Amino acid sequence: MQPFAEMAELGHQQVLFCRDDRVGLRAIIAIHDTTLGPALGGCRLWDYASTQDALRDVLRLSRGMTYKAAVAGLDLGGGKSVIIGDRGVKSEALFRSFGRHIASLGGRYITAEDMNTNVQDMNWIRRETSFVTGASRFEGGSGDPSPVTAWGVFHGIRACLEVVYGSADVRGRSIAIQGVGNVGYNLAKYVHERGGKVMVSDINSHHIARAVEEFDAEVIEGGDFYAANCDVLAPCAVGGIINERTLPKVRAPIVCGGANNILEDEERDGELLVERGITYGPDYVVNAGGLMNVNAELRGWPEGKAMEDAEGIFDTVKRVLHKATAEGTTAVVASNRLAMERIESVARLRRLHVPG
Ligand code: NAD
Repeated sequence: MQPFAEMAELGHQQVLFCRDDRVGLRAIIAIHDTTLGPALGGCRLWDYASTQDALRDVLRLSRGMTYKAAVAGLDLGGGKSVIIGDRGVKSEALFRSFGRHIASLGGRYITAEDMNTNVQDMNWIRRETSFVTGASRFEGGSGDPSPVTAWGVFHGIRACLEVVYGSADVRGRSIAIQGVGNVGYNLAKYVHERGGKVMVSDINSHHIARAVEEFDAEVIEGGDFYAANCDVLAPCAVGGIINERTLPKVRAPIVCGGANNILEDEERDGELLVERGITYGPDYVVNAGGLMNVNAELRGWPEGKAMEDAEGIFDTVKRVLHKATAEGTTAVVASNRLAMERIESVARLRRLHVPG
């Protein structure tokens, strides 16, 4: 498909191809929608097989950011960037050059960490532009977002519990967490502190041992995560794990976790979840705490404000689930609709109130 046709299909405003042969930079910045505010989204470093693959990825991911920010109630639009290459290409010069391309957009795009990029890379970008979040605290950044992300996931889980059981209390409920890394570890902590039972599955034995020691977690072996006898399956590791093959094994009435792209195929697996009577807290709604954290950083809000915002995920997930039931659709479709409704209503009020 032609790039303009792909942009039109997904509704993109602008795509910038960036090249700097002196430092080996080849990158693409996609700005999906800026109705609500500047487009914010992470910078991913990946060894794409082709430019077409990179373009497809950045277009898909940037549109996802528009929905995420809109449902989270933030004044941010959706964007994303990809640098084509492997970890071996990383250098100060590469990221500073990329920072200059970001600067050229005058604030329409703000970057952040993503897959294969880290705080150091953001610090380098920051030397060339202020349109970057997630730099180290020393450089004015907000540091590790995972405690805030996990706090939002915790409240998303509470909302699902309330819809399914009539009470949001985690006391006595069992939450099976796949991946007790940054997000999963903090989620396990919040659940344990409030009297819930933590069950864990991870490929990293140190992470498992830590959860057992600190939260008295029950260990789920290998592939049995899907069949865990629990109230909530909380995927907090990799994407695509809820699919045609794993869904028949699921016994939990709720799937709600922090991982990105939990459903292998949003449409098909979303419908399968409904057919099986499983309540699903859409990943991008539930894990928006990280975005709320960088939003607070951008606005210079005090520490603690992002945690407060993440508590709002409780109400948002309930709204999404009620809308899905009322409209006879899946939770993902309902949250996408909520996002579009908010964007359209803001666009409308601007047309009504801005002269000319
Ligand atoms: P992390 O790397 O710190 O933790 C991931 C954990 O999952 C690790 O303990 C790893 O060993 C484990 N793992 C990996 N593959 C696994 C598998 N197949 N089965 C079981 N365990 C496995 O990552 P993180 O920052 O905690 O992020 C986790 C997920 O949440 C990712 O999908 C990420 O995109 C998403 N997310 C994170 C944030 C954030 O603030 N960190 C924000 C939004 C979304």
